[in-house]
Amino acid sequence: MKRLSQLLDLFFPNVCLVCKEKLTNNHCICEKCLNELVLLDIKKCFFCGENPAQNGLCEHCKKELDFDEFVSAFKFDNVIQSLIHNLKYNEYMKIGKLLGELLANRLSKYEFISDIDFIIPVPLHKVKERERGFNQSYLISKEISNILKIPLGKKIVKRSKYTRTQTKLTKEEREKNVGDAFKIKYPKFVKEKILLIVDDVITTGATMKSMALLLKKMGAREVYAASIARA
Ligand SMILES: [Zn+2]
Ligand SMILES: [Zn+2]
Repeated sequence: MKRLSQLLDLFFPNVCLVCKEKLTNNHCICEKCLNELVLLDIKKCFFCGENPAQNGLCEHCKKELDFDEFVSAFKFDNVIQSLIHNLKYNEYMKIGKLLGELLANRLSKYEFISDIDFIIPVPLHKVKERERGFNQSYLISKEISNILKIPLGKKIVKRSKYTRTQTKLTKEEREKNVGDAFKIKYPKFVKEKILLIVDDVITTGATMKSMALLLKKMGAREVYAASIARA
């Protein structure tokens, strides 16, 4: 067996996804790169990164996003960027687990976390999920759910509209693009409930915002949001 693993190593060397150094652990990233991750300052707004914040958002961003509280973990630097990129296209199982673990660690320090009834990953449209083979927000959420023992509500919200890739759109176009993109499939798991939406990266916030608005409209008591990073 040793020879087989050496042979595999030759063709598929187990290297750190970020620095490409050979790995001595069984993860996807080396200790050195993991230690380079920069945690966001909890006293500043997690969205604009500038102003002092209460519940993760400054006054300005709070008006814009309307989450009861927002939590983000890391600065969107090289390390996070290569993890998220590979999560989308490559070794997604291992990375999803790692990112979920990191975000769970941060979330565990918040009081609201013990009140959450369901974690809701931002859903992908079923066509997109089929193409990709997985939903990255779901992988992260699943890990958080395991670690923090909070039920996962994978199917509560569904994406009913196949939206274009958002990266090249302006803020207004994005908001229009995601408006009515979601449908609540199981309203009884929303009404009077306290929910946590999870996504990998938050960019303009348009996607999470439109989900939060819909959940509130359907009677959710409180809606929290969390992301690995803010791009
Ligand atoms: Zn490395
Ligand atoms: Zn802000």
